Amino acid sequence: MSPQELTQKALKFPAATIAGEPHHSATPQTSTPIHNAATGEQIGWQEHATAEQIDAAVRAAHSALATWRATTPTFRARLLKKIAELIEADRDRLASMQMQVSGKPPFEANLDVSDAAATFDYYAGLCEQARTFAPESLTLPDNTVTGERFYEAVGVAALIVPWNFPMVTTAWKIAPALAAGCTVVLKPSEFTSPVEHMLAAIIAEAGVPDGVVNIVNGCGAVGAQLTAHPLINKISFTGSTASGKKVMQTAAQDMKRVTLELGGKSALIVRADADIERAVSLAVGGAFTNAGQMCSATARILVHDDVYRKFMAAFETAVRAIVVAPPAENVAMGPLVSAAQRERVQALVAEGVEAGAAVAFSGQLDSACAEGFFMAPVVVAEPSVDNVLWNDEVFGPVACVKSFCTDEEAIALANDTRYGLVATVVTADNDAARRYKSQLRAGLVWVNTPQLIFPQVCWGGLGLSGIGRELGLAGLRSYQELRHALTDAA
Ligand code: NAD
Repeated sequence: MSPQELTQKALKFPAATIAGEPHHSATPQTSTPIHNAATGEQIGWQEHATAEQIDAAVRAAHSALATWRATTPTFRARLLKKIAELIEADRDRLASMQMQVSGKPPFEANLDVSDAAATFDYYAGLCEQARTFAPESLTLPDNTVTGERFYEAVGVAALIVPWNFPMVTTAWKIAPALAAGCTVVLKPSEFTSPVEHMLAAIIAEAGVPDGVVNIVNGCGAVGAQLTAHPLINKISFTGSTASGKKVMQTAAQDMKRVTLELGGKSALIVRADADIERAVSLAVGGAFTNAGQMCSATARILVHDDVYRKFMAAFETAVRAIVVAPPAENVAMGPLVSAAQRERVQALVAEGVEAGAAVAFSGQLDSACAEGFFMAPVVVAEPSVDNVLWNDEVFGPVACVKSFCTDEEAIALANDTRYGLVATVVTADNDAARRYKSQLRAGLVWVNTPQLIFPQVCWGGLGLSGIGRELGLAGLRSYQELRHALTDAA
């Protein structure tokens, strides 16, 4: 199915794509409506894969494995580079589909396209470097043997993706998996799958052989059946911590390899020496990009007491100025992904307020927001540390602000969570920045920068935020088994 066909009509998106062939569902009741989040209008149906289709998709990936694994890294590099080029060439349609389904503003939808292309390009580059795949000789204390270390594709990978950055999260998994020599079965989110159907069409157009990338669609039950399949060797899952725990339990049955990218409850710390204008801009970006539907949302904002009033005044002005509306050039924030997600977030706000949290100020909705799943940004001041809004991942446009007096207090508050995905520090003091970088329990710390993400920089968290790393060389290695051989030197 070409990207053109996908964008031209409201479709029944096929339940599965197996060895290059779309397969529709025989039972129409097993499907999820796909909505335009900015208008509420239904634009299609995502059919769910049956148990037979899931089995066939995994078997197709298994059959394609031996040939794909035997291809040279240079061959795989060519295909990955081609995918990156085709993504760039299809930028407008891909961004437009992201806007149609998720209601993302144009700059966010375009950033997603850039990130996806950059990821394929980066892994093409790693494939071109001979040392990525060459066996490495070991220095041993015994000269009667020689030793070598080498890496081998782990096998068939199940890739499971949520709805908040669908195409990007998918690229973060497919690109390193293909680079490593794995074949895959992808399970997109049932709410945002159209963009993955487009990406799959691009991957096929680039010349990736049938069976190397297969797709099964549907809800968590489809994901669960996929992860339980005995021919799956590796699971890379991005989603909630609750689902991640189930995936890990399923993986344990066959000792499948797992990478889990899960939730977060991350902090942004504004020291007394911070440039307040920059701190406000980073706070707005950290809490309200993608309408706060980010695992990396820095929704715990900690502000030094000396600059708290100044920060709050400027933050209020900035939050009230956020244009929340359907996709258009001047829009800064789009809708939530679904009516259900908006209800969930609003219920959490009500629960937090009921438990004593005070809403300090809110943003406003444009008049064009009536039909979509929009919610104005909300800022809560000084919630207690046991309040649900301070403790739980909200995954919506809700930020909490708390004051602190010492660095020790700020670090203790930031680390007082079982998650550990990211953190941001805003400070003019390099020594303080160094202390924060070493003492904040987070997979990635940004100092005075927005949430920059590069394919060269690994992504992943501590504690309940997950296991393993995506992106970077570690992202590729997560689709490989590390092996050793020792040989008699005589
Ligand atoms: P979710 O866990 O409900 O679903 C994620 C994906 O897993 C979906 O495709 C879903 O169908 C599938 N799934 C659900 N239950 C499953 C099961 N038992 N077995 C296999 N697959 C299953 O999460 P969501 O609501 O789609 O996404 C939001 C969550 O994702 C948030 O918690 C967010 O923090 C997290 N997330 C994490 C990262 C990261 O990199 N750490 C990035 C984006 C989102």
